[in-house]
Amino acid sequence: MSDSRTGAVLRFSYGIMGSGKSTVALQVHHNLTRRGLHGILCTLYDRDGTKVSSRLGVSRQAIEVTPGLDLLALAKEHLAEAGDLDFVVCDEVQFYEEAQIDQLAAVVDELGADVFAYGLLTDFRGQLFDGTRRMLELADEHVPLSVEARCWCGHRATHNARLVNGKMTTEGETIVIGDTESGTPSADDKLFGDVVTYELLCRRHYVAGVAGPPPP
Ligand SMILES: [Zn+2]
Repeated sequence: MSDSRTGAVLRFSYGIMGSGKSTVALQVHHNLTRRGLHGILCTLYDRDGTKVSSRLGVSRQAIEVTPGLDLLALAKEHLAEAGDLDFVVCDEVQFYEEAQIDQLAAVVDELGADVFAYGLLTDFRGQLFDGTRRMLELADEHVPLSVEARCWCGHRATHNARLVNGKMTTEGETIVIGDTESGTPSADDKLFGDVVTYELLCRRHYVAGVAGPPPP
């Protein structure tokens, strides 16, 4: 549509849980909107399904990315209605379908809009999410979110461990709910009677399966 527009990018910013990516996604949307730019905010599996929220308490209406939703068609619709589309901010892209990541690349290439995508790299099994793998394959820019997080041992945390009833597990579904705060189980975390929590660990303790210090 706009071959004259150059320089649009697909930027993937990634971090571990607790890296503040949802907050950054909101901030970017806010900053660009304040400058009079037109954009869309997308998320998935957030706490109530319709808002990008962060633990800092900021939230904003967003489009929920459901399975099968065509993000290129959505962007074209917005462009037709608003007359302009400068950017798309996407949170939780690790859960997007591979086809939806392809559509985001097409938003950049066909519509000339910037796409700022945020997501987790690896799941609790230590493997790339499907959406993340596709994003790494397609993105123009890869930006690590550099918020420091620490393992219980004091080393830099690089892995999300899943704990069921306090015991580390590498089995089960990869679906998680938002940026679940590690170590603070709530009623929402109850799954068939089990309490599921997440803990940030260094690679050494993730691989060793040691989610906390040994008892004194
Ligand atoms: Zn450690």
